[in-house]
Amino acid sequence: MATDLVIENIIGCNGAPTTIAVTGGKISAIGADARNAGPTEIVDGAGRLLLPGLVDGHIHLDKTLIGLPFIPHIPGDTVAKRIAAERELRRTVSLPVTARGAALIAQIAAMGTVAVRSHVDIDTEAKLSGLEAVLSLKQSHGHLIDIQTVAFPQSGIIRDPGTAELLDAAIEAGADLVGGLDPAGIDNDISGHLDVIFAIAGKHGVGIDLHLHDGGALGAFELRQIAERTIALGLEGKVAVSHAFCLGELSDSDFARTAALLAKANIAIMTNGPGPVPMPPVKRLQAEGVRIFAGSDNIRDAWSPFGNGDLIERAGIICDRQDFRADADLALAFSLVTAASGAVLGRGAPLTIGAAADFLLVRAGSLAEAVAGRDRDRIVYKAGRKIAEAGQLV
Ligand SMILES: [Zn+2]
Repeated sequence: MATDLVIENIIGCNGAPTTIAVTGGKISAIGADARNAGPTEIVDGAGRLLLPGLVDGHIHLDKTLIGLPFIPHIPGDTVAKRIAAERELRRTVSLPVTARGAALIAQIAAMGTVAVRSHVDIDTEAKLSGLEAVLSLKQSHGHLIDIQTVAFPQSGIIRDPGTAELLDAAIEAGADLVGGLDPAGIDNDISGHLDVIFAIAGKHGVGIDLHLHDGGALGAFELRQIAERTIALGLEGKVAVSHAFCLGELSDSDFARTAALLAKANIAIMTNGPGPVPMPPVKRLQAEGVRIFAGSDNIRDAWSPFGNGDLIERAGIICDRQDFRADADLALAFSLVTAASGAVLGRGAPLTIGAAADFLLVRAGSLAEAVAGRDRDRIVYKAGRKIAEAGQLV
């Protein structure tokens, strides 16, 4: 097959000059000698830095209020109060999920996000409507972004009877994973909550990604319960826990036994580096063999007026929270929104031969400078096609 595109005069993350070739939407060659015979298009990269496409491991495409005039935040200091406030707000929002989600996709694709895992609210009021909207976005916006969906019981399962059946129906309707939420803190029934989601995962052969805000010893106990069930059902490598704030506030002995079980179950931990709550310690978890990845979480929605979906900025926020300053540490934070999140989403190693030609060209002399500078002047390629330049879709 003839090469479709060759980009010359770029530098790799190691600082060395390189070239990248694309054939049929995939990377067909990369390195100093990637220029083959007969490319239809040769592009001068103008000395830009080649970065892998950004992968958002945790987003909520159905919740965002982007596309609407700014809506003031409704206060609520507990997860339960926030759930109630969101359900109230949702009844008043006229712009459909497809329009708001499309606006957010346009924004993040222009900044270099090429794939997301979107949790989608499933409850007895919204039922599957949010999922159906996000699945339609997956079809209509596949040229910009790959979308994976999690059926997320935002209002709980046990406390919102009928939700278990809706989660099962959501998987039947095309959701990729089943979600969960604070089995103790929201449902006050750890076994009951986990029974439901692990049964659905086992029945359909899908993975799990559970929101866990419960802190301290309670949260750690829940993590170990999740790990033990994961091992018992042979779901190693298919389960993620988002937030897991508790990992940032455990004694050394509790951390060690919890991390050991997470590593044995091959559970991945998602963090968005939020303040002012405890944060899972990135290096300590990796040292124990626990996979960790990152995502945006809430972007301009009922949970937070903040967030813009910029994953290079997110890597910088994680650096701030973890006191990362050395080049290698900035590269580690960047890996959480690229290779690590991509692996959790089932994508192969980025910037390798045969991988999707999803990449960025940025103005920076090194990866560390790209993370520190957060320059928005990015050229974005999705499946070998240029989709954005200077922060705008083309
Ligand atoms: Zn979330």
